Amino acid sequence: MTIKEFKQLTEEISSHYLNFKLEEYQKKYWYDGLKKYDLEDVRDNFKLHLKGEFSYKEPTLNWLVHHLRTPEQKELAKKGWTNCRKCGQEFSVDELDKWERCERKCSIYNYIERKSQQFGINIAEIMGEDIYKIGLGELDKRYDRFLLEVVRQEQKQQKLTQDEKEALRNMIKKGVINWQN
Ligand SMILES: [Zn+2]
Repeated sequence: MTIKEFKQLTEEISSHYLNFKLEEYQKKYWYDGLKKYDLEDVRDNFKLHLKGEFSYKEPTLNWLVHHLRTPEQKELAKKGWTNCRKCGQEFSVDELDKWERCERKCSIYNYIERKSQQFGINIAEIMGEDIYKIGLGELDKRYDRFLLEVVRQEQKQQKLTQDEKEALRNMIKKGVINWQN
């Protein structure tokens, strides 16, 4: 959804819940959570919420995106199969979970390969020798260590663009890392 549609949606919510108001920082967070979905789909969830047993409460962001598919995922469901945009592996439509894990893993590999080159980071030292064999859960954990190392190196070498820094900030879970500058 576009920002304009997002505004429309929050207006609709506040017309049902008079106390509903998002602070500036919340707006950004909500929009980040909603933007990949179609307005109509989110609206359908909102309508369900209005009819549901928790309708006395304002809807949460989680509820609004509950079980939704992105336009991309809907397209895929029609086509019947897709492939990982990084490594090309094919998945059938009942393997959406696997597909998402593949894309996530591949994008982690892609990032660590690029950034280790750029900053001269030894991947095995930071993340272990076996990163191409481990599951996504473990990879995610070790990825945090790698991101921390990128932050450390960036403070010394200052090679990232403004956009890259912003992306890095978003990747790092809040509070885990004390980011300066
Ligand atoms: Zn892949």
